[in-house]
Amino acid sequence: MSDIIKLLPDHVANQIAAGEVIQRPASVVKELLENSIDAGSTEISLIIRDGGKTFIQVIDNGKGMSLTDARMCWERHATSKISAAEDIYTIKTMGFRGEALASIASVSQVELKTKKVEDKLGTLILIEATEVKKQEGISFQQGTSITVKNLFFNIPARRNFLKSNPVESRHIIDEFTRIALANPHIAMNMFNNEDEVFVLKSGNYHQRICDLFGVKTDEHILSVDEQTTIINVHGFVGKPEFSKKSRGEQFFFVNKRFIKDAYLNHAVVNSYENLITKEQFPFYVLYIDIDPAQIDVNIHPTKTEIKFEDERSIYQIIRAVTKKSLGQYHHVPNFEPASEDMFLNLSTTSKQSEEKISTAKPQIFRENNTFNKPATKNDWQQLFDVMKPKETVGTMSSFERKNEEKTSFAEPQQTKNIFQLHHTFIVSQIKNGIILVDQQKAHERILYEKYLEALDRKTISSQQKLFPKTVTLNSSDEILLKDILPEIRLLGFDINELGKNTFVVNGVPAELNHHDEQGLVEYILENYKQQTAQSDKKEKIARTLAKRASVKTGTKLSDEEMSVLIDELFSCKIPDYSPDGKSCIVKFSVEDLFGMFEKK
Ligand code: ADP
Ligand code: MG
Repeated sequence: MSDIIKLLPDHVANQIAAGEVIQRPASVVKELLENSIDAGSTEISLIIRDGGKTFIQVIDNGKGMSLTDARMCWERHATSKISAAEDIYTIKTMGFRGEALASIASVSQVELKTKKVEDKLGTLILIEATEVKKQEGISFQQGTSITVKNLFFNIPARRNFLKSNPVESRHIIDEFTRIALANPHIAMNMFNNEDEVFVLKSGNYHQRICDLFGVKTDEHILSVDEQTTIINVHGFVGKPEFSKKSRGEQFFFVNKRFIKDAYLNHAVVNSYENLITKEQFPFYVLYIDIDPAQIDVNIHPTKTEIKFEDERSIYQIIRAVTKKSLGQYHHVPNFEPASEDMFLNLSTTSKQSEEKISTAKPQIFRENNTFNKPATKNDWQQLFDVMKPKETVGTMSSFERKNEEKTSFAEPQQTKNIFQLHHTFIVSQIKNGIILVDQQKAHERILYEKYLEALDRKTISSQQKLFPKTVTLNSSDEILLKDILPEIRLLGFDINELGKNTFVVNGVPAELNHHDEQGLVEYILENYKQQTAQSDKKEKIARTLAKRASVKTGTKLSDEEMSVLIDELFSCKIPDYSPDGKSCIVKFSVEDLFGMFEKK
């Protein structure tokens, strides 16, 4: 036999497809919730156990499935949502590929219960790794319940690849939050190991946001609403002072589909120019409605990117509308027209905002004006002042100055062979030359090693707060904080759970003693999240705290502080590199210096 090509058996083809569609429990949750939404449900419940690894159940009151459909839906490419290729250009549903259920069934044990309103009897089906194990008629309410047990039970390699329960739960909460934000009219609940995570009543967008992020959110958000010829945008942006140290709460939805788009994110962040610092992340939930023909939805189902036909115009509109909401809140007109064309697209109906635009122009002109002035001597003087130490140790009398001039050539390095450059680098003489040390990176290294050691040996003391502070977090951050609590307690954090989403901070490590506990906790969680490459929890925590507590570039150090820093750096295990692998020290040997001056 010389023919070698054969068709893969269905269960193998499904498993391969599952590798793409189903990466983790959160992918199952996303697919099931989207199916419930497509089925026209008004109430959906999600129940998970063990980060969704052993148990995920979605129950809805949607249109249900007939007996035949209940069998059919597990087949590959079985869908009720499109029937011809061109249908995807007018697609209104979340799904259309007919791949999700087939993929899920190939890598887990599934139970389906479903009934259509007009049917007397419902259907129960049990499937294990694509094989139907049981099918029977049952009495059931209208709607569908799908339970997915022991995900990847038949693919140990994939099961082992899953993260800890708290991490997987966080992914699920993130997925649930996105879908809940996109569908506020649907009542949605979520339970994790019997604990209630969310109970969301049906409502409008504003109510949904407050239910998800806390009632107080209401005071911190501004509404956005604009109809243009290409897109409609509505939603909310956070007031600048509500910006967080963590990136978590930023959402774009395009035709109810959550998307990630760095370009559009830039448009929003850009509209906060001068209102927030670079370390802050503005809150936003923006819904974009666009003709489906103007976007490409035929992207991979797990991908959250989307392709717009006219990306640039959309950027300008997003930037302008967020700026407008912020400008109205700030009273000072803050509206900067992006381009003339854009206003052709913006069929703004409100007269008031047009007035704002025209009064805004002179204001901007005035602000920019300072940059056009030719530099005067005074400006240069200011520039040098900035580079000088802020704290001067009193002014020298002319007598002292004369004396100083006289002695300045007489070996100044004899008594002091260490000094600071631009409040950033430390220069020190060593036996065979000089070293330049980056003060911030060096301090990060020192603290990093100290924290790592403390994580093994409980040595850091915490600075008790006179008045304990409470910190409120969203559900996904709450799970993350609980996950790292044992470790950060070893480093001197005295934090306890107070109730749902709330923690009380009684103490923090001395180096981090800070008045803004909320910001500190957010900073730690955000930094921790961003370190995905390194898997070791202790290292991630030590690195995060070292970054936060280190002396920063631009800080003036006393001679003593500098020499302690250098001593401590050289007693580190790896003094040459900061915890994230950047150089802390640059050395110049006397030979190097000779070479530079072409001396022999
Ligand atoms: P797709 O959503 O891309 O059509 P799926 O594999 O997710 O593919 O689902 C296959 C089909 O099963 C759907 O087209 C739909 O007809 C049916 N279905 C799945 N979930 C539900 C549900 N919760 N309620 C009613 N029908 C459902
Ligand atoms: Mg689907």
